[in-house]
This record gives sequence, C-alpha cells and structure tokens, in this order.
Amino acid sequence: MKNNIKIIGAGPAGISAAILLAHFSVHSTLIDENSEIGGAIFKKPDKGMNNSTFRDEKTFIRARKMFNEFEECSSYIDLQLESEVLGNFPLTNDLAILQKGKVKTISDKNLLIATGCYERAQPFPGWTLPGIMSVGGIQSQAKCGNVKPGKRAVLIGTGPLLLVAAKQLHMAGVTIVAVLEAGRQKDIVKNSFNLMSNTKLLKEGMSYMLYLKKHRIPFYYGHGIVRAIGKDHLEEIVVAPYDDKWHPVKEKSFTLKVDCAGIQYGYVPRIQLTQMLNCKHTYNLNRGGFFPVTDSWQRTSVKKIYSAGDNSGIYGSDVAVLSGKIAALAYLIDISEISIEEAEKIANPIRKEMNKLKKFQKTLNDFSGLKEGLMGLPDQDTIVCRCEHVKKEIIDEAIEVGVKDMGALKIRTRIGMGNCQGKMCGNYCNEYLAHKLGSSHENVGWLKPRFPMAPIPFDSINTNN
Ligand SMILES: Cc1cc2nc3c(=O)[nH]c(=O)nc-3n(C[C@H](O)[C@H](O)[C@H](O)COP(=O)(O)OP(=O)(O)OC[C@H]3O[C@@H](n4cnc5c(N)ncnc54)[C@H](O)[C@@H]3O)c2cc1C
Repeated sequence: MKNNIKIIGAGPAGISAAILLAHFSVHSTLIDENSEIGGAIFKKPDKGMNNSTFRDEKTFIRARKMFNEFEECSSYIDLQLESEVLGNFPLTNDLAILQKGKVKTISDKNLLIATGCYERAQPFPGWTLPGIMSVGGIQSQAKCGNVKPGKRAVLIGTGPLLLVAAKQLHMAGVTIVAVLEAGRQKDIVKNSFNLMSNTKLLKEGMSYMLYLKKHRIPFYYGHGIVRAIGKDHLEEIVVAPYDDKWHPVKEKSFTLKVDCAGIQYGYVPRIQLTQMLNCKHTYNLNRGGFFPVTDSWQRTSVKKIYSAGDNSGIYGSDVAVLSGKIAALAYLIDISEISIEEAEKIANPIRKEMNKLKKFQKTLNDFSGLKEGLMGLPDQDTIVCRCEHVKKEIIDEAIEVGVKDMGALKIRTRIGMGNCQGKMCGNYCNEYLAHKLGSSHENVGWLKPRFPMAPIPFDSINTNN
C-alpha cells in the first residue's frame, strides 16, 4: 500500500483530508469512535434509527455531498469506526485504540489529529439537575432521532448553535419557551460589515432567526442563566439580563417553567491527544482556549503530526473542511508526493477562502467571547467538578492557601481526577484561577491527560491480540 497516514476523527476536517489524499492515490486510515462518519455537525442517526422528520435540510444537503465524495474515494480509505484512540500506550511509541472491546496499537508517526471540539461546561447553581444538558447533547437526541429531550425547553448561552438547536428541537415537536443569547445585539450590528464577507452563512443565520420569528419563539440578546430550580428534575430556570461583562442583573431576573434546558457557553478544542504527543500549545480564549500551534500547513511542532479542524482552534465546520485539505497537502509534500510549488498552487485558493471564512467566524467568536461575569455564576456550594464532587468553596480555599496552577489545584482538590479527566471542569477552573490570581491562562496551565484517555474494560488490555 502506497503511504498511509492515520487520520483521527471522521468529521469534516478528517473526511476532507482523506478525500484529497485519495485524489492523489494516497491511502489513509480514518479512525473515529462513532459508528458513522460525519463528526459533530454531520452526525448521522445511529444504525437503525431514522430521523428524516427532524433533520435540517441545508446541513443534510452539505452532509450528503461530502458523504458521496467520500464513497467515491473509499478504495483509498481504510475506515475504522467504533475505534477510540486512548493515547500513548505506556512505555512504547504506539497509540492505543479501543476497537471491538479490545485494545490494539498503531504507530504514533504520520498522524493527522482532527478530533474536533466539545462543549465548554459552565457551572451555575442547579446545573447538575436532570433535564439540564449541553446544547449539543440535546441537539443530538433530536438529530439522531432517538428521544425528545423534554416537552418545554429553553436554550441559553452564546453562539449560532442555540439557533440551530432551537429549530431542530422545534421541528422534533418540543415547545421552545425562549432562546437567550448572552452577546449584545449592538455588538453584532457594529461588526455586521465583517459578516458580509460570507453572505451564504449570514443568510443561513438569518433564516434561523426568521424561523424563530415565524414560530413566535422569543429570542433575547444580552440575557443569560442565573440558576436552575427543581427537586428531582429541572422545574424552573431563572434568567436575567447580563451587563457588558456578563454579570447577571439579578433585580431584573425572571423565571421560565421548563423541563429541559440546553446550555452552551463556548467550545473547547479536543487537545488531549496533541498534549499526550507533546505538541506545543497556545491559548486564545475566543478560539476555545488551548490548541496546538501549527504552521501555515497545519503541521504541529512535532514532526509528522498534523492538526486540522476545530482541534486546531475553533473556526467552525467550513474552515475545518479547508484546513483538513491543507494538512493533507502538507503530508503530500512531506512524503515527496508533490512539490511545494504544486502544493502552493492548490493551497492558494483554499487559503483565500479560509481567510474569508475566518474573518466571518472571528466576528462571531468575538461576539460570543466569554466574559468575566460567568466566573461568578456558581455559589460557594455549587459543584464544579462533577466526577469528584468538588464544590466552588473548595477551589476558593485552595487558592487562599496558595494554589497557583492547575496541577496544584488538581492535587489539592481532586478536580480533574475523575473519569472525564477535567473535560467538564477544566476550562472553568483555568479561567477562574487566572481571573482570581490576575495571572495568564498559560501560567495557570492545563490538566495533563493520562492514559487511557477514556475508561476501558480490564479484559480489553491484551496486547497479544
Ligand atoms: C456537540 C456539537 C454540535 C454541533 N452542532 C453543529 C451544528 O449543528 N451546526 C454547525 O454548523 N456546527 C455545529 N457544531 C460545530 C461543528 O460541528 C464543528 O465546527 C465541526 O464539526 C468541526 O469539524 P471537525 O472535523 O474539526 O471536528 P468534528 O466534527 O467534531 O469531528 C471530530 C471527530 O473526531 C472524533 N474523535 C475525537 N476524539 C477521538 C478519539 N480519541 N478517538 C476516536 N475518535 C475521536 C469525534 O467523535 C468526531 O467524530 C457542533 C459542535 C459540537 C461539539
């Protein structure tokens, strides 16, 4: 087989990279933990499920085009689904993958990390009540046609996913009580010129707003979460207008009766693998926090490891597709399959398009840029680390006795020691420490992932397989 790069993540970035390589007759292995390709945006229903009623037509058309192209190239792509990469296998240079209940290994050379992002969790009083979920979590229930997440839902946070999910849930028969966006209307209007750089996406965004208007779904700019109330399940959500720094104006708060709330304040690049592989990382709050440093060809600081899509800093699905192509071109240069000049010729229009899209996305990212008011949402007895049940007061006590970085905070309080290894609480803790200490996010640092990145059954570790 002529050359073979392992692409981890079969979302828009990974798929587009595999397709471009196939056009050059170069083989790739495409690995994803899910049972279908598509990643977060083009997530298909689980096998045997039908979601034709709830799907969003525009996204479906984009997905179908990509899946058809993928199908045409399939003879060059070794697709390995239901295969979760667990990180570096201890004491070897191999990566471990959990596949069909068994751990197998692959070399950690020639890797394209396209693992996307996950939603940033925001602690607030009552956020652990059943009925409160991430927006993506409730969206995927509607998208995948499994279950309706509730009867009366509210969507709270910031960014376009609130609108997309509101429409999808409404189409699935859920009553949408309101959508609350923390960003202020004046800030998006002020930057509307930049949004004109992508009229297609602008129109798409407006079509979601029109959908809400048509169906009389209330939409509030400059509002957000205060607390959730309920005995065994969510019963009410208290929301309020936010000031310029997103501190809730509590005297103006009001209550919504709901049994389901989707909360989303930002995305976080999935960097656990690039961390384990010792790639250099940088920090930008408006691109999701920490992400691997890449050159203009999506090469990381470690030789033969590339990073593309939201893993390399949040810019959305269209940029993910293009950055996947650039990473694939870099691999072709590095294996001497094409010359730099030839690659530049192909890359130039891709980069031009990517810059245009990034300008648009940056405006949205800035509009949704998290503000310090979110730091004060949890009460002293609000649980911040759900795996280890660490309350906000424990974090404050640790800071009082001199804790200054994430490593020390983990040792002192057990945050990030549970099954999710800090995926839930890590961002809030990093931001809170930096905020309280007046330190930089880089100085406060990040939690180190440990092998295996996800829990695995004992009997899966038999390297003789
Ligand atoms: C929950 C959620 C819902 C979203 N919904 C929308 C939407 O409706 N519309 C929209 O425009 N944008 C949406 N976005 C944003 C959009 O999905 C992303 O911008 C885009 O999908 C990025 O593409 P990607 O290829 O970089 O990553 P992704 O599409 O996220 O693909 C990454 C893939 O890698 C897999 N993966 C990660 N780690 C491992 C591992 N260790 N082992 C094996 N596989 C792994 C993941 O399961 C995933 O399939 C959503 C994002 C999230 C997180």
